[in-house]
Amino acid sequence: SIVVTGATGQLGRLVVDALLAAAPAEQVVAVVRDKDKAADLAERGVELRIADYGRPETLAGAFGAGDRVLLISGSEVGRRVAQHAAVIDAARAAGVAQLAYTGVLGGDDADFELAAEHKETERLILASGLPYTFLRNGWYSENYTANLAPVLAHGAVVSNAGEGRIASASRADYAAAAAAVLTGPAEEHLNQVYELSGDTAWSFAEYAAEVAARSGREVAYTPVSAEAHLEILTGAGLPRPFAEILVDVDRAAEHGALALRTGDLARLIGRPTTPVGVSVQEALDAS
Ligand code: NDP
Repeated sequence: SIVVTGATGQLGRLVVDALLAAAPAEQVVAVVRDKDKAADLAERGVELRIADYGRPETLAGAFGAGDRVLLISGSEVGRRVAQHAAVIDAARAAGVAQLAYTGVLGGDDADFELAAEHKETERLILASGLPYTFLRNGWYSENYTANLAPVLAHGAVVSNAGEGRIASASRADYAAAAAAVLTGPAEEHLNQVYELSGDTAWSFAEYAAEVAARSGREVAYTPVSAEAHLEILTGAGLPRPFAEILVDVDRAAEHGALALRTGDLARLIGRPTTPVGVSVQEALDAS
């Protein structure tokens, strides 16, 4: 079977869509912690296995011998190493044929706090001896385009990344790459590391110009210091620890941590990646 964890998340749903387009539904398995949230997946013929990364005993039945598995990294920051370790242990006990993992662009070179749990997870996978595929995802364009309301309200894109560039791609692009490594010839993708990012790395000034052009509103980039950005984010109601994580990512982005372009993503999906302007337009159309 082809097994996707985190299948009820935003990326996971797109991976399931891509798998169903490439393989018969009876080969696709969704590992989810909330059965009700996955009712639509079951209706489409996807087998559900119920498991929680945080409760190792529930993972015993999640995988079978020979399965090709995608571990979508969890969203509970700070708990993820232990959670992912439990998933890796279960995958090893079951004897899966491939364990793909959604890590972070740059791997060990990613010098921001949010990357630490991904780097540690990759180390655990290597230590497990399982055949692996590292999908080191760059930033989703939707990280920015899902947040257009305040940008349009203030006419400002605010960041402490200075002139740093972001090689973002759409979630659907990363999902298509994950589906490709799970359904393509296994021997091509086993023990491979893919650095996945958009074909174009944009600056925040260029992003602001794109939002302005597509919305018909005046929007400009306002570069700010890390301290000022932290004030703005917490002032807007973000919990301080989360705001600090975002400011730390921008700090790293200023010197290029999210700008790496290898072409791996376009190669895996067999087409150019989705330009950020297209994601901006989709967000405007949906609002
Ligand atoms: P979502 O938050 O939409 O999805 C996270 C998924 O992980 C959900 O399906 C969630 O289950 C599942 N999950 C979290 N904790 C557990 C747990 N304890 N047990 C079982 N399942 C769990 O994030 P996205 O789909 O957008 O992104 C996928 C992952 O990529 C994120 O979890 C994060 O690690 C990373 N990420 C990457 C970004 C990037 O720009 N590259 C940006 C943001 C996150 P449920 O549906 O039940 O909540």
